This record gives sequence, structure tokens and C-alpha cells, in this order.
Amino acid sequence: MLITATFINYYFICHRKLWLFANGIRMEHSSEIVAEGKLIGETTYIDRSQQYTEVEVDGIKIDFYDAKNKVVHEVKKSNKIEKAHIAQVKYYIYKLEQKGIEGVTGVIEYPKMRQKETVLLESGDKEMIQSWEKNIEELVESEICPPLLRKPICKQCSYFDFCYVEEPKD
Ligand code: SF4
Repeated sequence: MLITATFINYYFICHRKLWLFANGIRMEHSSEIVAEGKLIGETTYIDRSQQYTEVEVDGIKIDFYDAKNKVVHEVKKSNKIEKAHIAQVKYYIYKLEQKGIEGVTGVIEYPKMRQKETVLLESGDKEMIQSWEKNIEELVESEICPPLLRKPICKQCSYFDFCYVEEPKD
């Protein structure tokens, strides 16, 4: 199974979201794609695009990789640093190291907060990432869709209508 960075991200956001996405139920609307940083990447950071290359490792696309300095860049529109963002960048670094590229670091940029977060692959992280991969495989291969998260984050999720639609009454 190809575990993409989106799988890792969703694993930390909501297991149900991960399951739905991995099982081919896609509900992203344009605003969410924009919110995920695509537009930010293309506008706020466009002037620096020459410094970065787009890299693909085992089907996983890293949009902004500074090959000279071995730094993975990620841009998030969010106004808070989230575990899911850090996990995603750690996964990129892990995948690059698996290909023999040592000494890679990561930087997550939060333009809204004008803040940067450095991400490193630390001792024990490789084992931790392997356990994420195992858990993700088990989760998405399960025939049972995980339960509703019922958290405020649901209101911003593209699956909100799908998850919280009322059952039709007879
Ligand atoms: S709406 Fe909530 S429960 Fe449904 S997938 Fe999104 S985060 Fe998960």
C-alpha cells in the first residue's frame, strides 16, 4: 500500500477522515485545497520557487525541496502548529533518508503567524514512523469506518456534510 503524506496527516487529524479518503471517498472542495496551502505556495512563496525543486519519492510528492541545503519546506495556512504538520514533514524526511539522502531537515512555514517550525528526524522517530505505517494499513484495510470524531475541527472538514447528514426519516 502506498502511504502518502496525506495519509499521515489525516491519521493525526481523524481516523475516519483517513479511512474515507483511503477508501476512495473524496470530498475535497476547492476551498480546502486552497486551505491546505496550495494557493499560498503559489502566491506568497512564488518568488522563491527557483530555490526549490519538486521531488517524488516512492509516489510521495514533496512540493518544495531545497536540494542544496537538504531542507524540506512545507507551507501551512493554519494559525497553529499541529502535530499532523510535524508528522507529515517527519515522514518526508524519513522517506528521503530511506533513499540514502542523509542529514535532511524540515521547516514548516506558517505565513499567517509569521512563524517557522524546524522539524528533525530524532532518535526513535524511524521506529515511530514504522508503527504509524502499520497502524494506518490496519485502519484503512478495516471494513469498519471509524466513528465520528465529534470535535470542533469537523466544522472545517470537507467530509462534514457527509459525516453529519441526518438520516432520512420515513
Ligand atoms: S467531519 Fe469530523 S468525523 Fe468526519 S471525517 Fe471530518 S474530522 Fe472526521
